[in-house]
Amino acid sequence: QWIYLNGEFVTKENAKISVYDHGFLYGDGVFEGIRVYGGNIFRMQEHMDRLYRSGKSIMLQIPHSQEDLTNLIAETVKRNQLEDAYIRLVVSRGTGDLGLDPNNCKAPNVVIIVEPLSIFPKELYETGLEIVTVPTRRNRPDVLSPKVKSLNYLNNILVKIEARLANVNEALMLNDQGYVAEGSADNVFILKGNTFYTPPGYIGALEGITRNAVMEIARDLGYEMKEEPFTRHDVYTADEVFLTGTAAEVIAVVKVDGRVVGDGAPGYHTKQVLKEFRKRVLLEGVK
Ligand code: PLP
Repeated sequence: QWIYLNGEFVTKENAKISVYDHGFLYGDGVFEGIRVYGGNIFRMQEHMDRLYRSGKSIMLQIPHSQEDLTNLIAETVKRNQLEDAYIRLVVSRGTGDLGLDPNNCKAPNVVIIVEPLSIFPKELYETGLEIVTVPTRRNRPDVLSPKVKSLNYLNNILVKIEARLANVNEALMLNDQGYVAEGSADNVFILKGNTFYTPPGYIGALEGITRNAVMEIARDLGYEMKEEPFTRHDVYTADEVFLTGTAAEVIAVVKVDGRVVGDGAPGYHTKQVLKEFRKRVLLEGVK
């Protein structure tokens, strides 16, 4: 396995950065998770746009042009000879001193890791996922915008811990007003009648690239697609529920806080969306 690290390709054992890196000391940095399907990188441009927006928001200048970084990612994928894989791109503020001041960091550290990944056991894509809602709340958009995909993932990690404590694989977090925001690393959709709903960004959801693709698909398949706030009650009483994410892809949810969704199996409409998603990821990617 070859890892890109600040201008070089190194082995996993040699992929090391300083303990003074501010990503390590303070979670100061941004990242992206990107997927390779059949050798094609899915929606690279959207991921690049989001990365540069995240960087701009926290005043971290990505030390490459979008084009150069795109080429570096493609090269890392090629070197690892993987047809289906997950790409983790991390840009930290860089190596500094123990103070917070980012001005003491000389240059960002840039890391690209490519490896196979499946975050949920395979059989759950057939049977559907049981989830819960947890006490951890999404941070308010005016505090640190959830639109910034930063290295500060503590509330997401707490969501994962709370899910594990409840003996399930994933959980939903609410925002400070009690509206459903998203999962630990995925967006949520519900279906009522012929309409899909997903929480708008201002509720505290990351504007997921998979979410965007699924919203397009839902509309193309003739469903109504609305970005609207909803509560746990709406999830409990939905006809179908599913999650989307680069790592999760599209996965049906069949139980929420002990309430069975629909008839307890992945819903027909979720399966339609998933089928179309699988078709498009293979057609749309860039080599
Ligand atoms: N929400 C959070 C907090 C995430 O970390 C992710 C994963 O990247 C998502 C949602 C899903 O976004 P995407 O589809 O772009 O992977």
